[in-house]
Amino acid sequence: MNRLFDKKESWSNKERKTRQDESLASMVKLGYKKSARLKAILDDNKINPKSIKTREDLEALPVTSREKLVDMEMQEPPYAGLENPAVQIDRIFTSPGPVYEPHLSEDDILWARAFFAAGIGPADIALNAFSYHLVAAGLTFHNGLRKVGATVVPSGTSSSQIQVQLIKDLQVTAYVGTPSFLMAIITKAKEMGFDFKKDFYLKKACFAAEPLFPDMRRSFENEYGIDTYQMYGATEVGDVAYECSQKNGWHICEETIVEIVDPATGKNVAPGQLGEIVVTRLNEIFFLLRFGTGDLSRIITDECKCGRTSYRLAGISGRIGDAVKVRGLFIAPSQLKMIQSKFNNLPLQAVVNRKGHEDILKIVIEKIAPEIGSAQWEQSFKNIFKEICTVKVDQVEYVDKGKIKTDEKLIVDQRQW
Ligand SMILES: [Zn+2]
Repeated sequence: MNRLFDKKESWSNKERKTRQDESLASMVKLGYKKSARLKAILDDNKINPKSIKTREDLEALPVTSREKLVDMEMQEPPYAGLENPAVQIDRIFTSPGPVYEPHLSEDDILWARAFFAAGIGPADIALNAFSYHLVAAGLTFHNGLRKVGATVVPSGTSSSQIQVQLIKDLQVTAYVGTPSFLMAIITKAKEMGFDFKKDFYLKKACFAAEPLFPDMRRSFENEYGIDTYQMYGATEVGDVAYECSQKNGWHICEETIVEIVDPATGKNVAPGQLGEIVVTRLNEIFFLLRFGTGDLSRIITDECKCGRTSYRLAGISGRIGDAVKVRGLFIAPSQLKMIQSKFNNLPLQAVVNRKGHEDILKIVIEKIAPEIGSAQWEQSFKNIFKEICTVKVDQVEYVDKGKIKTDEKLIVDQRQW
């Protein structure tokens, strides 16, 4: 078996940069012709598209955050005019915001390198426990698994009991999903009387959308005999980085340009320093340049023993700005504002905390009307919250009118990173 997915993974840094710079220049040139929005962005910043020749030239362009992208898409649905109208889009995904994303292409190798690096191949039966419903995760991870030859069980967000049954009946060897859900599945298996390590064949797990905490990783690896790998990406830009067997940072994908910038200025920080991960995915379908993920990380440039030559991200150190991830899903202030508008501009605040490995979402609400707080009111609030934010509310706390100051943040993240 080859040690690497393809030749690109062993390119010299010089060769990689040259090829990526070429792709970038042609993406900008094409985007300027096809996308009115990209043309407007470049024109507004007085940038000649021909002047974007290398990744260093990107710095002249503004960073587009998720919030900004939502605003742009609201002004010009569905893709903010960033798409290539000449290309037929094969799938349209959505994620909370709402933000719509044209799927890059069914032929691309999204996530395949990550699965390959995790040792997944034709001998594997992989349980894909990411949602296949509306969001990109399910189908894009599915595609990646197929590209490395694995057989996929598209279990999606089925209950943990069903997942246990599938793992057992189908002799599943690999899991793809969030770490907290795998832990819930293991707990359920124990309740059902199984010994996970002895009774099952599941020996590999690839995680995304949530941090994998070191104690949780130790528990998967030592107690349950599961070799774990982390993958990192975003719906807007696809796969960004993945872990190899060395587990000393996440290799940056070959089709992405990753910059680490100072969130305040949008300028690149010095190598090795912490900053916001800003991603440009080289493609000819969606001309989103410099997508600001809101995640903080730094670059590792040392050579990796695995043979891959790409630079690596040193995990995720936290979030910038106000949008936060709860159980792998973003909640943005814009969504909370939408909820407020449905309840007569109800003053509220979301507080995110962590109990063990689980994110806990509490909503603090001002009792500005007598019906607020009744069981019926709370149920309807929770339903609308789930509808808009996708994430479930765990706790509701009611406070007196005037307690939430207007200058306080809509979302408070109290988790320790
Ligand atoms: Zn490596």
